[in-house]
Amino acid sequence: MRLFAGTPFDRPPVCERCGKLEEECACPPLPPPKSIVPPEKQTAKLTVEKRKKGKLVTAISGLSAAGNDLPALLTRLKSACGAGGALDGDTLEIQGDHRERLRMLLTTAGFKVRG
Ligand SMILES: [Zn+2]
Repeated sequence: MRLFAGTPFDRPPVCERCGKLEEECACPPLPPPKSIVPPEKQTAKLTVEKRKKGKLVTAISGLSAAGNDLPALLTRLKSACGAGGALDGDTLEIQGDHRERLRMLLTTAGFKVRG
């Protein structure tokens, strides 16, 4: 039974996008939600790289932008490490050598980790 069934508010279901009755609606199907690849199917590769002025960054590669919400992951990792960082293409970079902590964080999140 629908909400308000039997009252003047009982309207047949309409499409939220075009406002037509659902049976008359010709809207194209919604695009599938961004596909997130399960972490256990992905391997994150950790490398420490030296940057200008001898600064170290921990680079996390191997996680695709298509299969992950990389900006959200970066934010979480940065705050967990208390460090700055940036996204360089599909590579997450955290300032400093945080391999141990990142390995733990990524493993806890379910990723396989190399490096
Ligand atoms: Zn529609």
